Amino acid sequence: MGDAYKLWFELEKEADEELFVQCGGLYFGDKDDPQVTLTEQALIDTNLPYERLTPKQVREKHPAFHLRPNDVALYQKDSGFLRATRCVQANIRLAKKHGAIVHENTKVQEVTTKENQTFVRTTLGNEEEFDRVIVTAGPWMSTLFKQLNLPLRPTRQQIVYLNIEDHPNYFQPDGTFPVWIDSTENLYGFPSDGQITGVKLAYHHPGTLITDLDAERAPVDENYIEEVQSYARKRFPNLSSQVTYSQTCVYTNTPNEDFIIDRASDQSNVFLVSGCSGHGFKFTVLLGKIISSMATDDPSYERDLTRFKLSSF
Ligand SMILES: Cc1cc2nc3c(=O)[nH]c(=O)nc-3n(C[C@H](O)[C@H](O)[C@H](O)COP(=O)(O)OP(=O)(O)OC[C@H]3O[C@@H](n4cnc5c(N)ncnc54)[C@H](O)[C@@H]3O)c2cc1C
Repeated sequence: MGDAYKLWFELEKEADEELFVQCGGLYFGDKDDPQVTLTEQALIDTNLPYERLTPKQVREKHPAFHLRPNDVALYQKDSGFLRATRCVQANIRLAKKHGAIVHENTKVQEVTTKENQTFVRTTLGNEEEFDRVIVTAGPWMSTLFKQLNLPLRPTRQQIVYLNIEDHPNYFQPDGTFPVWIDSTENLYGFPSDGQITGVKLAYHHPGTLITDLDAERAPVDENYIEEVQSYARKRFPNLSSQVTYSQTCVYTNTPNEDFIIDRASDQSNVFLVSGCSGHGFKFTVLLGKIISSMATDDPSYERDLTRFKLSSF
């Protein structure tokens, strides 16, 4: 994460726009929740500054949060959120500036290797030849590389925005309302982002398995919305039950939530990144550096990638 932070700041500087909003982060849960203990230990081991807060201290500092009496909270002021669409757009814009050719709305149909050259066939109707190819097609990797039997399980995820009933100042990303994770109930959320009315809340646990990735997705389930509303009534009483926005999307899960970063076992010129398991966006700048270093035999981002190899799943 330390390396990823540096790269986001570099990208932000080159893109000359705000991509990361530093609003602080609050990780909380029951004081006996083993995940809270593990998270605190990880912060200590990596020497990252944090504060340990009681529910009362959380209320004083971040008045929108009403934690359970037995909760403990870990606050990190350096945390925040990335404006994901802007990050993707900035990457594309700058890649083009550096000479990349981008074919938007073009589907890759096949990636094959013959005599050490790799061919990419697309819906543009032609086949192009490359020395090295990097593929990052999310859950669709399983369709493109059927023969590899990738350990990917795409699940349907849902998110909800609830409107603010009163005290809108409690929900601002100026340090008053941090990004948060409730470890015990497995929900997370964001402050008011200035784009969509209200604030985002969602469950992190994997949803139902998606069997047809290209099928139209059903809208967010009524009972999911009710669960989120019921949670918000207890933890954020200044929110209203009015849903201002909701959406479904896909987590590309591996069995242990580690990412896949590897060379295709049957095509040595083809490099794969996938299985970001619902927590990969923040690492994408670093994953890009690592995989492009691998593909170009450049040692600058060499890492021990043993746990991310296909053979380790
Ligand atoms: C609701 C939700 C919340 C999340 N929250 C967080 C979070 O808080 N923090 C975090 O770090 N991460 C989060 N994530 C995870 C993060 O979004 C993913 O880890 C990240 O988007 C994975 O990137 P990817 O490029 O591997 O795959 P994707 O984002 O799935 O992108 C794959 C791309 O490949 C394209 N593609 C597929 N097949 C083809 C083909 N044949 N030809 C051409 N193009 C193709 C697709 O159109 C798509 O654009 C969240 C994800 C969801 C769904």
